[in-house]
Amino acid sequence: MNLIVQKFGGSSVADAGRLLRVSQIVREEREAGHDVLVVVSAQGDATDELLQKARGTSKTPPSRELDALLSAGEQVSAALTAMTLEAQGIPAVSLSAWQLPIRTDTVHGDASIRDVGVRRVRSELLRHRVVVVTGFQGVDELGDVTTLGRGGSDYTAVALAAAFGAKHCHIYTDVDGVYTADPRLCPTARRLERVSYEDMYALSRAGAQVLHDKCVALAQEKGVEPEVRSTVPKSAGTRICGEAAERIAGVTCRARRGDELSAVTVVGRALPSLAVEKRAILSLNAAGIVVRGVDAGTGTLTLYVARERDREALCAVHDAVLAE
Ligand code: ADP
Ligand code: ASP
Ligand code: MG
Repeated sequence: MNLIVQKFGGSSVADAGRLLRVSQIVREEREAGHDVLVVVSAQGDATDELLQKARGTSKTPPSRELDALLSAGEQVSAALTAMTLEAQGIPAVSLSAWQLPIRTDTVHGDASIRDVGVRRVRSELLRHRVVVVTGFQGVDELGDVTTLGRGGSDYTAVALAAAFGAKHCHIYTDVDGVYTADPRLCPTARRLERVSYEDMYALSRAGAQVLHDKCVALAQEKGVEPEVRSTVPKSAGTRICGEAAERIAGVTCRARRGDELSAVTVVGRALPSLAVEKRAILSLNAAGIVVRGVDAGTGTLTLYVARERDREALCAVHDAVLAE
């Protein structure tokens, strides 16, 4: 089977215009001779809005009910995506995760995928339909809906690419690849052509939202090479694969729970490196940002700074350790 998996994030399916763009991308792949399996996230901020509604009813909603609620976001976008494809003359069918099924453990809100039923999707693909699957969710042994953790549609895409032996797994989002830092926070960040599984996993764990960490771990385990791309304009994107292109892959930042500090983490196979550590600390000193702690590990270096200056710290460390 000449299958391609295409995952579209929340901004890529946010409204009718964006869905039309999705249908163009799907059409291009079909015309190139691919069967297409689409994975969608909830539209725009739909998941946050559902969370807000839940919190309006209770400070601590039961996790089972929260999953039942949140899964509705992806259900809406999968149906709307299939309708848009049909309206464009592309035969399509939407399926919720339980219809495959995508089986998970019972950890509501952070479930892990155990296996994927392939029969229904295969028969739809044989009928030359585009199959649109809800991202971010599965079903546990009780038959209850589970969710895979925020950003979990990436994980669904890789699980399906592995289960169906897809040739490509394209993750479409609102940036045209993985950058050396979040390009919205750090204007000097540059796109990476490829990132190793290890570096991408470390970046995701340390806060780079662009790919879900379990998606990267599964991709490595199954040998899937996801490509992060933008729906507009077309660009080369970033491939996640076995080899690292750079000695330092990037820098990311995350607020630490329980205190007022943020962790700025440098990731790369060059680490640990005293020279990199020195450059990072000097850059913070020069910006007048106090370093409140340092963790040097294999492949990562983390510096703790006051949360209110973390964006400045991210950019300073980025420019210091990535300047060639
Ligand atoms: P989607 O809804 O498509 O899944 P996300 O918001 O989850 O999109 O992820 C994309 C966002 O990740 C970008 O808009 C960007 O701000 C952020 N991001 C964080 N770190 C990076 C990075 N190193 N490279 C690219 N984007 C990053
Ligand atoms: N809609 C879910 C979220 O907002 C999953 C995803 O976007 O991947 O976290
Ligand atoms: Mg995401």
